[in-house]
Amino acid sequence: MTLTFTPVIGIEVHIQLKTKSKVFCTCSADYANDPPNSHICPVCTGLPGSMPVLNKAVVHQGMLAGMALNCTVQPTTLFFRKSYYYPDLPKGFQTTQSDLPIAANGWLTIKDDVGSPKKIRINRLHLEEDVGKLHHSAPDGRLEGADASYVDYNRSGLPLAEIVSEPDVSSSREAVEYVTALRRRVRYSRASDVDLEKGMMRFDANVSMKCSDGRWGRKVEVKNMNSFRALERAIEYEIARQRKLMEDGGEVLQETRHWNDAKGVTTASRVKEFYRKFIVEPDLPPLVVTPEWIKEVRASLPEMPGEKAQRYVKDMGLSEVDAAVLTDSLDVAQYFEACVAAGANPQRAGNWVRTEVLRAMNERRTDADSLDARPDTLAELLRRVDGGKLSTTVAKSVFEAMMEGLSLEEAVKKSGAVEGGVGADAVGNLVQGILKANPDVVADIRSGKDTAKKVKFLQGLVMREIKGQARPDEVAAAIDAALALK
Ligand SMILES: [Zn+2]
Repeated sequence: MTLTFTPVIGIEVHIQLKTKSKVFCTCSADYANDPPNSHICPVCTGLPGSMPVLNKAVVHQGMLAGMALNCTVQPTTLFFRKSYYYPDLPKGFQTTQSDLPIAANGWLTIKDDVGSPKKIRINRLHLEEDVGKLHHSAPDGRLEGADASYVDYNRSGLPLAEIVSEPDVSSSREAVEYVTALRRRVRYSRASDVDLEKGMMRFDANVSMKCSDGRWGRKVEVKNMNSFRALERAIEYEIARQRKLMEDGGEVLQETRHWNDAKGVTTASRVKEFYRKFIVEPDLPPLVVTPEWIKEVRASLPEMPGEKAQRYVKDMGLSEVDAAVLTDSLDVAQYFEACVAAGANPQRAGNWVRTEVLRAMNERRTDADSLDARPDTLAELLRRVDGGKLSTTVAKSVFEAMMEGLSLEEAVKKSGAVEGGVGADAVGNLVQGILKANPDVVADIRSGKDTAKKVKFLQGLVMREIKGQARPDEVAAAIDAALALK
């Protein structure tokens, strides 16, 4: 009998909440280019006698992220001290809400491996503090082989939300779908920038295997994934490893393993897991959020991407693919909506935003809010295209000039465009000129050699000369007429 194995996977996501200062002190949370240990104080370095004060903005952002993930906000919660000893944690304990979280019982919908909708339940979102960063002197930056280690506490005390899913994920692909959807929704809520390159989003995965003969493997916690790709590879590696062990009749040990991205393997953690003691944090009172506060936070939550995309399909007649592209980030969706609100045709605006606007954003490495060409001006430009005053080709070069900071009128002038096109006489004259300059091509056409192809060639020459200020069918008709006359 062939055995089949079903992976059972739960994902833990840490995100850095977007606030000006750290979670329990007033140190600035923005230390990007500053030297190590320049954003620290007695609280975030755990000096005796220092007292934590909870940053209200962290609670606000935690609630917001929880709501974006369909969680229910818990009115009363507590903080605990989770004790363990490691040099990146100067207090000797991490302050965390753990399983009395600010938000609980959420869910996200993804597509499963055959494309059907699948709900991934979210157990909770709890608030906690980040720890410091260790720098080891070894050339590869790893602890092994280093003769010195340095610790930087700038990150110590940054506000984190840990989002714990139920074990509803069944493959590495589903895992990536889940964290992608989670990231998109959290970014929409503006609770976090969730910038992976800046380490604002990190993943752990709990992986176990269920065998068709009734055996269950033990749960393995895989840590240290900092990108979608690392999460995908780590889960794939772990599934294959556990499956092989079980096929060979071996046993999967319950353990913590670390993902080594360079080698593409997980290895058993050499540091034995300490018994982690929890006590209630005596320096922080219970956290109570009022119904009014919850209401206020909910009011600030924008429409979420899935709902937006559905509306674009239903009310504006866009395709599902276009709607998904336009709602991938909030700034682009808002740009598109502002363009439509200013009178642009939704389909044409959608086409422009997902091609020209996204291209301009990529080239400038900026978001839609910072583009020089504003949505209302684009709407005006598109109205001129729809009204036949400008060709699409000309409109593209006008838009390009608007991106350089020119007004619509300045951009039209700069492009040399003549509103309404150059006119039939001008097209006719240009065609005559082109025919005169290409007597061999004209001769070929007359002798019936590759006629269609040669006419197309001439048409291309005219269109290039005319810089798109006439419609292709207009030019084709002018060429036909000129050839017939000769
Ligand atoms: Zn501090």
